[in-house]
Amino acid sequence: MSDGHHRAAIYPRHHRAWLEVDGAALRHNARVLRARAGVPLVPMVKADAYGLGAVAVCRALGLPFEGATPQVAAPDAPWGVGVASLDEAAELRESGCTARILCVTPLLATELTRARALDVRPALHRLDDITAWRRLGGAPWHLAIDTGMARAGVRWDAVAPLAGALLAVPPEGVFTHFHSADDDLASRDAQDARFEQALATLGDAVPADALLHRDNSGGIVSRTTGSPGHLARPGIALYGGMFDDVLDLAPVAHLRARVVDLREVHDGESVSYNATWRAQGTRCIATLASGYADGYRRHLSNRGEVLIHGHRCPVAGRVTMDMTMVDVTDVACAVGDIATLLGRDGDACLTAGMVGARADVSPYELLVGLALRVPRFHLDLAPASPFSA
Ligand SMILES: *Cc1c(COP(=O)(O)O)cnc(C)c1O
Repeated sequence: MSDGHHRAAIYPRHHRAWLEVDGAALRHNARVLRARAGVPLVPMVKADAYGLGAVAVCRALGLPFEGATPQVAAPDAPWGVGVASLDEAAELRESGCTARILCVTPLLATELTRARALDVRPALHRLDDITAWRRLGGAPWHLAIDTGMARAGVRWDAVAPLAGALLAVPPEGVFTHFHSADDDLASRDAQDARFEQALATLGDAVPADALLHRDNSGGIVSRTTGSPGHLARPGIALYGGMFDDVLDLAPVAHLRARVVDLREVHDGESVSYNATWRAQGTRCIATLASGYADGYRRHLSNRGEVLIHGHRCPVAGRVTMDMTMVDVTDVACAVGDIATLLGRDGDACLTAGMVGARADVSPYELLVGLALRVPRFHLDLAPASPFSA
């Protein structure tokens, strides 16, 4: 039985468009990245886990929740998770998540009390903030070092004045972030060297047992001998959005929409707004119940392809807010059938990289944009899944 038939059985007929988030694929990717990195992971679940749903992603990855037994045993269990704001951390806490939470984006001084209350590890680098954190009780925090990203953290060549403050309230961790580890090894090496230089400058002000971490997805993938330090912080690779050409990473997000209308158009007739597509001969056009309000980018007009019964069907005309038309002349299809706009359908797959390239956006933006309107279903597409019964 094909995947398509499974899904038809899983989803009630009234579901028009939805995003499937595959927990089994997430865990698979985490295992692959954990093995590659050789150190525990800090999955980055910022931006609602790149649009896929932070709470459910944390559960799927085996992070601890009140009253639940984590499914992933040490040493493969993630160390904690990374967020970009205290609101994101609060959502996790409200759902009962008891994991370590690291906020990698600089906080305002006015936010430190709330960070403390939420048991969030802030990334700090300003002397005043470090001192304020000590006055608040000096809970665990991480020192952010800028080695060339020029976005957050103390410059690698300006760490010396922090040494005294670090001795007063020792950081639990010290980290940096790469700007081009995915495509420029020399720049990664230069940032590595700057990070080591900063650590050397700080000397004993960094505790011997401090957790050092550098690698994002690009960093993990770029190394063959494991990630340096003690932790690694993957985001996009975990979600199957990049590097599936290098590592055995599975797609996690599958955007589906049903065929809600079918018609024949005749030679020379147009489809959709502004008549940018015209039939050559008689063509069969299917209307899908999904458009740019669901994160299916308008730039995919006349450029994208969707999968129906494992066949590639080109987008015909402009993607509209709620509907997208595709040419199904070569595919037997009926109203109610399921199209895959992103992800896998049987053996065929539209990766986030492929769809993003057609849409002229990065896979990051593509995934984050899926959170717009479409409901998310978290399930395990593994054979043992209760959903596939
Ligand atoms: C977003 C982010 C990551 C993850 O980056 P990916 O490229 O998605 O792997 C890691 N570290 C920091 C500080 C980040 O902001």
